[in-house]
Order: sequence, then structure tokens, then C-alpha cells
Amino acid sequence: MAQDVFYLTADRLFDGEKMWTGKAVLVKGNKIMAIVEKSSPIPSGAKVLDFKNATLLPGLIEGHAHLFLYPYNITDWDTQVLKETDALRTIRASVHAKNTLMAGFTSVRDLGTEGAGYADVSLKKAILDKIIEGPRMLVAGRAIVSTGSYGPKGYDNDQKIMLGAEPADGNELVRVVRDQIWQGADFIKIYADYRWGLMGEDRPTFTLDELKLINEVTTSSGRVMVCHAKSKEAIRRSVLAGAVTIEHGDFLDEEIGKLMKEHQVIFMPTIAAVDKITQYRGWKKGIDPDPENVVRKKLSFKAALASGVTIGMGGDVGVFPHGDNVMEMELMAEYGMPNLDILKAATSVNARAMNWQDKLGHIKEGFLADLVVVKGNPLENISQIREVKFVMKDGVIYK
Ligand SMILES: [Zn+2]
Repeated sequence: MAQDVFYLTADRLFDGEKMWTGKAVLVKGNKIMAIVEKSSPIPSGAKVLDFKNATLLPGLIEGHAHLFLYPYNITDWDTQVLKETDALRTIRASVHAKNTLMAGFTSVRDLGTEGAGYADVSLKKAILDKIIEGPRMLVAGRAIVSTGSYGPKGYDNDQKIMLGAEPADGNELVRVVRDQIWQGADFIKIYADYRWGLMGEDRPTFTLDELKLINEVTTSSGRVMVCHAKSKEAIRRSVLAGAVTIEHGDFLDEEIGKLMKEHQVIFMPTIAAVDKITQYRGWKKGIDPDPENVVRKKLSFKAALASGVTIGMGGDVGVFPHGDNVMEMELMAEYGMPNLDILKAATSVNARAMNWQDKLGHIKEGFLADLVVVKGNPLENISQIREVKFVMKDGVIYK
């Protein structure tokens, strides 16, 4: 059967690096055939989609999602983890997946189910098998924490409480990493620090040697290690051990940003999570002064920009509603990042973070046909990303 050829065009085209005018894209099957000049003739038989007052972009990529979580102002994290069945959470996640795709995010890196086991692996399979609609997924599964560091916390220790991730230490880490890979983890997510002990400060959990061991076992299987790290010391150890991305980085300064840059580590700032959680706790944004954690987040993001470390787009979506992924992009703009760099972060940079740089994140000949059209010009106003008019994933039109 002959495959349909689509001729797609809009006022502007962002190719993952630059904004162009006067360009169109030819799609055949699930691939981008070519980028052509609008002035050249349209191939006969091609289905023409010409979007007025709009911008064509590569399918957006969410760098830090939790499809198995939903906003904590509706149901707090402990309750979601401890009281909701994995079945209920999976049904919710399938809705979250669809909302994400419809918001123009055709790919997602999911950073852990937080107590729903490997249901993310099944969610990914359900999307691949076209049982439900959702983004391409890379999944972490359970993720790994050191003994004693992770939540839910604050319960009587006489009761054994199910944790939001899998605890392991020392040589046991070898078995746990291998088990997670067997269960279907695409990458290994480590909590390199966490609010630890009675006062709940962010303290490093794993030693440098433990992190190196995790990374060695992980990379020998062709996968990568990614690290939750807020404190400088946890970031430092994670980078030296071989992490490909650092999540959060709330205490990042210019010095540690430069170390990350030197090791080509990508930073996922998760600004939106801090912004929203603080509001859930009662902060009236724009009225009350910035609380300490928000001030710190702003400082660390500034330091990241100054250090030249590569910044990806990952908002920790799940803390806020799936489908509202653009909130992180808006906050990146609010915190001083140029819109062009934000667009790159959500496309070509995140493709690199997912090791998909040779097939996604760009509008380029031979790349997979993940394409999005938004109304207006997101270079002028990043919130235009909210106005999604068209979504194509793998050559299939979803919106
Ligand atoms: Zn997260």
C-alpha cells in the first residue's frame, strides 16, 4: 500500500535549533522526507496542511515526568503512594499520557512510578501496541534509594511502610540494577541525596563508589544513570560517577555548573515543581515575598545559566497537571532564559538527554515524523505553546 505524503507548512518553522520562515516539511509514513522551500512546487498527490498564524515545531519532549502522580493539592503524595492501588494509578496514568500527547509532548522521560512498581513499563507497552494514545516513553520503573532516606516518612517505625522507590546499598546495588533492567527500566534513576534524618536536610545518600558501581552495571547494559541531586556534594558525586542528567539541582552554583558542563551533563531544573509545591503550601505568588526555597531555585537557575551547563526542559510534571507541561517553559522564561533556548531545551536538548538525538528533537530529513503546530509565535511569547493546533507522532495525526 502506498504511504500518504503530507506537505506541512506554517508561517514559521522551528527545526530544533533555529526559527525559519518560508519552509515546508514533507512527511512520508513515519519519517520526515525533506524540508523544502515554500516557493518550490508541491509534490503531486501530497496532502497539504497549511497552518495560518502558526508555528511548526518538532514534537516536544518532556524531560522529567511522573505519569503515575497527579497534583498534590488534590491528593497528597503519601496518600497516592500508600492508599491508591496500582490498578487505579495505572488507569489515571493512561489519561495523563493522552493529555500529555494532546499538549504537543510526543515524548516523555518518566522518572519513576513512586510506588506503582513497573506499571510504567506496561503503560509504555500499551502505547507502543496502540491500545491507548500517549507519548513515546523512556521509563525508570521503581528507581533506587539508599536505606533510610526515602518516603513516605513520619509513620511509626514499628510498621513497615511501602516506599516510593526501591532501597538498596553496597554490593546489593548490582543485583537491584540488573533486576530493574530485567523488569523493563530504560535507564536507572538514583536518588543521590534526599531529605534525610529528623531535620530533613538534603544530604548525600550514596557514596561515590556506590554511584560508580551503579553506573558501571547500568552502562555495561547500554543504559544510562540519571540522578536526583539537590546538594552540591550529591551533584558532584553523581557527575564524577557518570550521570547523564542531574535532576533538580536546587543548591547548584556556578562552580558545580561548570563541572557539569565539563562532563557534558544535562541539567533538568524542575522549577515548576518547586513553584507549585510552595503554592500548595500557602505561598501567594506575586503577593507574598518569595520563600527561601523559591529564592534558592532562582539563584541556582541563574548560576546554571552563567556556568554554561546545558539545560534541558523537565518540570517534574505530575506535581502539577499532565498536559500543563508548558508551565516549566514559562517559568524558565520568567527566570531569565531566552525563548529560543527554551524551545531548544524542549526539543533538541531533551532528545540528547534521551539519547534520541539521531532521530528526534529536530525537523530534519530522515528523522521520525513527530511534529506539532502551535498558534502564533512562541519566540515572542513562550505561552503560545499552550495553543496546540496539530499533533503528529510517528507519522500519525492525533490532533
Ligand atoms: Zn521527579
